[in-house]
Amino acid sequence: MNHCCKKMFFVLKEDHSIFYQSRTRTYHVITGRSFVDTNTGEKTREVVDRLVFCPWCGKKLPKDLWNEWYDEIEELGFELPLEPDDYNKIPKEYMTEEWWKKKGL
Ligand SMILES: [Zn+2]
Repeated sequence: MNHCCKKMFFVLKEDHSIFYQSRTRTYHVITGRSFVDTNTGEKTREVVDRLVFCPWCGKKLPKDLWNEWYDEIEELGFELPLEPDDYNKIPKEYMTEEWWKKKGL
């Protein structure tokens, strides 16, 4: 995978303050810690914000494929929202960048 600049490449690989999810082509940053819901006792996920521009070189990042990914998954017959176990059943190519590269997105 090519990224916009060396700094982005370094941060994704070494620093981990920004994450890249290849299956949805999403660059994101965690902006909130996980916390326990006092009503249900369940641990709620961290807040994740998607990035549109690279914070270092300023280039516009490629359009994320978040919605497209969920559309594909629904077409495969999965019901949304996904259950944790569903992720083990999703075909492997949809868990990587393979599916959107094949479609030329
Ligand atoms: Zn950059």
